[in-house]
Amino acid sequence: MEEPTPPDESDCCNSGCNPCILDVYEEQLRKYKANKADLLHKKGKNCISQTTYTIFKCIERIRHTDNSYLFIFEYYKPYRESTMDSNDRFNEDLHLNYKPGQHFLLRTPEKYYEHFTRAYTPIPFDNLTPLSFCVLIKLYEGGIMSRYLRNIDVGSETLWRGPYYDFDIDYTYKFVLMVAQGTGIAPLYAILKEMLNNDECETFIKLFYCCRSSNDIFLREELYGCLSYWNFTYEVFLSVNDGVNVKYNEIIHDYKLDKGYIKSYLSDKSNRSTRVLICGNDLFIKGVSEDLVELNVSVCTF
Ligand SMILES: Cc1cc2nc3c(=O)[nH]c(=O)nc-3n(C[C@H](O)[C@H](O)[C@H](O)COP(=O)(O)OP(=O)(O)OC[C@H]3O[C@@H](n4cnc5c(N)ncnc54)[C@H](O)[C@@H]3O)c2cc1C
Repeated sequence: MEEPTPPDESDCCNSGCNPCILDVYEEQLRKYKANKADLLHKKGKNCISQTTYTIFKCIERIRHTDNSYLFIFEYYKPYRESTMDSNDRFNEDLHLNYKPGQHFLLRTPEKYYEHFTRAYTPIPFDNLTPLSFCVLIKLYEGGIMSRYLRNIDVGSETLWRGPYYDFDIDYTYKFVLMVAQGTGIAPLYAILKEMLNNDECETFIKLFYCCRSSNDIFLREELYGCLSYWNFTYEVFLSVNDGVNVKYNEIIHDYKLDKGYIKSYLSDKSNRSTRVLICGNDLFIKGVSEDLVELNVSVCTF
């Protein structure tokens, strides 16, 4: 574990970010002190930090659906270390370390409104350079970070910190059911790809993906490509029936996922060998988790 760099007092924007940068620092410092011996084995340095901001430049912006983009950001330099030349950044043994399912926080720059942050989840993307990451971002009408992101293009400098959320993939489960809503697919897709790419993985993975309409099926091509793995299938549930064209082997229902459907899927599986991962807004997570209580399965929410 690296010694955490103290944030500037001014890095706290007093807008109730979760987690607050000052609280994260205190927690990291506590862990660092408790694990000082680990430093002897320190290898490389993470170019993104939980306690200070790092500048990443946007190097690609790809339209994904009508209202979403894939943004690729590459490490540029630490925020506020103006003495460091950007060309020096590869002299250090830097890595970009995060686990599938973890998220970063993006902060608006000095001159932009008041400071505030929003969470975004890095997802796998082919041919990423070692110090870059990809995020799928849906832009909302009237959303304040969405307004900032509309102006982000190739070359823009952006401020990030992270990674946050501790989740470890457990390959001992026989079945994993993923239940995602909208952009909640991002962490589950990152975990899915990690599991599918692990030759040792013998877990069968099922995804139930809830979307408003066919235009809101994010990562549709990518998920379809994953059907080539023996241990993955998925079903999409649409709230709006808009006459979507369904591809061979693609299952898209023109109705919402309900309690009965999840129960029936889990009914022939042993509770102890099944884990359910859920990601969506609070209401969605609450609804799905409540339905699972009586089934006594292991549930993780994102
Ligand atoms: C841990 C975590 C990880 C996340 N990862 C991603 C990600 O990878 N990609 C991504 O696009 N988003 C992700 N989000 C959501 C993201 O952080 C923002 O909430 C989103 O981009 C909207 O921010 P905004 O400032 O533009 O909208 P705001 O100004 O916060 O909201 C404006 C309006 O937009 C609508 N809105 C905002 N967020 C949502 C939502 N999630 N669902 C439905 N309506 C909404 C509401 O109508 C709201 O009133 C994640 C959130 C969390 C907590």
